[in-house]
Amino acid sequence: MGRLFGTNGVRGVFNKDLTLDLALRLSYALGTYFKEGKVLLGYDGRYSSPLLADVVTAGLNAMGLDVYNAGLVPTPCLQYCVKRLGYDGGVMITASHNPPEYNGIKVMARDGVEIPREEEGIIEEIFFSSNFKLSDRLGREYSISNAIDVYINGILSLVDYDAIRSKGFKVVVDLGNGAQAVAVPRLLDALGCKVITINERIDGSFPGRGSEPTVDNLHDLKAKVIDSNADLGVAYDGDGDRSIFCDEHGNIYTGDRSGAILIDHILKQSKGYSNDVKIVTPINSSMLIDIVASKYRAKVIRIKVGSVEVSREMLRSNALLGLEENGGFMYARHIAVRDGAMSTALMLEALAVSNNSLSELNSMHRRFYQYKTKFQCSSTESLRVIEELRNDAKDKRVESIDGIKIWIDDESWVMVRQSGTEPIMRLYAEASDDVRLKDIVRLYTEKIRSILKR
Ligand code: MG
Repeated sequence: MGRLFGTNGVRGVFNKDLTLDLALRLSYALGTYFKEGKVLLGYDGRYSSPLLADVVTAGLNAMGLDVYNAGLVPTPCLQYCVKRLGYDGGVMITASHNPPEYNGIKVMARDGVEIPREEEGIIEEIFFSSNFKLSDRLGREYSISNAIDVYINGILSLVDYDAIRSKGFKVVVDLGNGAQAVAVPRLLDALGCKVITINERIDGSFPGRGSEPTVDNLHDLKAKVIDSNADLGVAYDGDGDRSIFCDEHGNIYTGDRSGAILIDHILKQSKGYSNDVKIVTPINSSMLIDIVASKYRAKVIRIKVGSVEVSREMLRSNALLGLEENGGFMYARHIAVRDGAMSTALMLEALAVSNNSLSELNSMHRRFYQYKTKFQCSSTESLRVIEELRNDAKDKRVESIDGIKIWIDDESWVMVRQSGTEPIMRLYAEASDDVRLKDIVRLYTEKIRSILKR
């Protein structure tokens, strides 16, 4: 049996891998899986999103399910509303940060979090066997207009509203032509901020800086923060679940660095019970997370790379926080999924409550140096690389949660893993010293190249 779901929902190039025909059959499979009830549907700003939304709605209606259409919303808004408003499930049409020609279908359980991997398997089985249970009763389509209000109010209820408002922060937001354009400016306005927006026009071709914010493509955000003397800058990905922060001097932070700052703030606020707090993060994020957590005796749970894995583990272990190095931050009091808007509100709260600028908060944490690169190779080749590196690392501490992570010493590590979506192998490395990091990267790049040549 083939696979339909990738690392993050069903995703592919629209009209090529992801056709309307496939979307219709998938919605029959979803209808069979959900059996009955009401499903909340939302979509991002891609050109193909409304087409897919119509077809999925028709498919689910034909299977007897009622579909409530929330319209164009950020993914975390749809997810929060599924949980908060008591839907039986949710469907989000989005390809997140992928290029414009892509689209995708994400399926949420009633808790608002993407369905677990095992459940994806059940839907795939129904899909590939065409074992659809058609209904005598046709479902109906309704539209709901309050999803964004519910979402914004939910976020506002979890932060120190007065403390943030009293500061009158100036914030530059790079919306990346994506879905947070419908929510974040309103949220910041409610928090008393002076908001400056860039790439605020929703456009499925992502003409601004592309749909994925990275440390390297946020020049406009940096410049605007400096020019306008802003307190903070933030950029979001296409569907608004990831956020990348920029301090008042125009320095862009990696997701694990800003995540560590948020964790420090939240645990400080939770003093007294923070030794019960659990933080879930994949094996490839910074050691800084462990250092910050140990200050409060919070427990860090390291798992496989992937946001769904983080969310599901958070629910399993009753964790308060989760984060990824790519800018995904999860706060379980809100919902155990990545949310760029929630993260922004929490960062403003951190600034307001501490009376520090972001660069000052950052300077309270040790500096670590990180490096990421990739190699073109098949999954068989990458297995061979991992095996050979394992044999080669006999005298070192090795972790095998995802690919292989080799600890060179107590403060430096290198990790390689096969990508879940492309024929590439990723290398991550981190060290407390820049020269040390370069040496490690050079050494392991050579090792990998020579294994691949054999
Ligand atoms: Mg995303």
